[in-house]
Amino acid sequence: MNTHETALVSGKITALNGTREQTLSSPLTGQADRKTRHGDDADVDAAVKSARAAFDSWSQTDADTRRKVIEALAAKIEERADDLAAAIHAEVGTPEKISKAVQAGLPVHVLRGFATDLDAALAPETIAHSTVSYRPIGVVAAITPWNYPLHQAMAKIGAALAAGCTMVVKPSELTPRTNALMMEILAETTPAGTVNVVPGDAITGAALVDHPGVDAVSFTGSVGGGRAVAQAAAKTLKPCFLELGGKSAGIMLDDADPEVALKVMVNGGLLNSGQTCTALTRILVPHAMVDDAAAQVGALADKMTSRLGPVISKDQYDRVQGFITRAEKDDSVTLIAGGAGHPEGQEQGYFVRPTVFVSKDANAEIVQGEVFGPVLVVMGYGDDDEAVALANGTDYGLAAAVWGNDAARVDAITARLRAGQIDVNGAPFNPRAPFGGFNQSGSGREMGLHGIREFQRPVSIQKKG
Ligand code: NAD
Repeated sequence: MNTHETALVSGKITALNGTREQTLSSPLTGQADRKTRHGDDADVDAAVKSARAAFDSWSQTDADTRRKVIEALAAKIEERADDLAAAIHAEVGTPEKISKAVQAGLPVHVLRGFATDLDAALAPETIAHSTVSYRPIGVVAAITPWNYPLHQAMAKIGAALAAGCTMVVKPSELTPRTNALMMEILAETTPAGTVNVVPGDAITGAALVDHPGVDAVSFTGSVGGGRAVAQAAAKTLKPCFLELGGKSAGIMLDDADPEVALKVMVNGGLLNSGQTCTALTRILVPHAMVDDAAAQVGALADKMTSRLGPVISKDQYDRVQGFITRAEKDDSVTLIAGGAGHPEGQEQGYFVRPTVFVSKDANAEIVQGEVFGPVLVVMGYGDDDEAVALANGTDYGLAAAVWGNDAARVDAITARLRAGQIDVNGAPFNPRAPFGGFNQSGSGREMGLHGIREFQRPVSIQKKG
């Protein structure tokens, strides 16, 4: 069995000092297939020192130098797309085609977005007699999750490099094969010390957040993880940017085409087996359309059964099954499609039946909780006000969607939604537009100019005469 036991420090792939080990199973078969080691305090310390040593020179580089590095990184990811897609398919379970297009493909667009926005991000501003210059925030700790492992890392690495920061990345412990490829690519394309990687778990991540040589923390993951990181960062008053979970809603208005709207929402909601932070997992339709819409969503979900990958791990499978079985027992909730257990013929691995519920209760657990699995809920609303209240009615606020033909009505609804990403009539994701949430979906903004700004501090310079 392969053991992943390396870090990237000072431009070199080195053996981890840490000896704590974890055995991982393939989501596709459930069989143990690789081991990973977790970085310890010494690994974290070496990586932070490397980032600090590289900061003085990297922070002084010009836009062209940074752009060339970011473009080289994007090109190398493009070149290695097949290997990356295969690793993510094997580790996360994302079906091969989607792994290539989204898991390996999206980071390339995100990085090229940073290259495009670099000049704007570095341009000084004039405010009366002051020149405001945007300076790198310093050495960044970047902690990322497993669901889109390469994309989440590149969203931070590209932005931090563009800002002139150096960093230590602590990727998810559940994707060591992807992490190993990523380290190879970073070693080939980025100047030594600018991007260091210490694979490990929450303990490794916590050591990184606590390290006095880290100036800012950028975290993507669960609400629980985000809370722990924010509390730890508060001890040293490090700025801490959080990208957390979601329970996003799509509002279908009575004049929308249900066939198109429901299909797009189901496809998006089930993408990566629902392990997408922006998944539109709550489908809101006018009361009169609930029965028809639920039947359509159920039929679409059934059809997806053989096309979905598994969820990532036994823990995740058990967590998702817990949500489904509790919802099946909830009197205010009706099961429309799927349900507990494995899909027929997919008893191996962590495959989950795409599951659809209708809920009459806006406070039901299945309506409020982030399942992070292929589980959708359809709910009815009376008027536009109620649709907005339901859409905004969770602890989260990451994404939302509106479907309708009256542009003024759609705009009026959109203006009241408390979500960082709002798609109208199925508009595609924009890898240069700011990405982030309200409420417990977190405080950060990633991608494009806004993503670079996260890693900058404005410095005001006043000159006389
Ligand atoms: P997680 O919180 O368990 O872990 C995320 C990362 O943080 C991992 O690298 C983990 O090792 C590390 N970590 C966990 N606890 C830590 C601690 N106390 N100190 C330092 N590091 C710690 O999340 P996950 O299960 O990997 O990812 C799934 C979650 O991520 C979901 O809730 C999903 O919605 C969210 N997510 C959000 C976004 C976004 O951009 N808003 C994107 C993708 C995923």
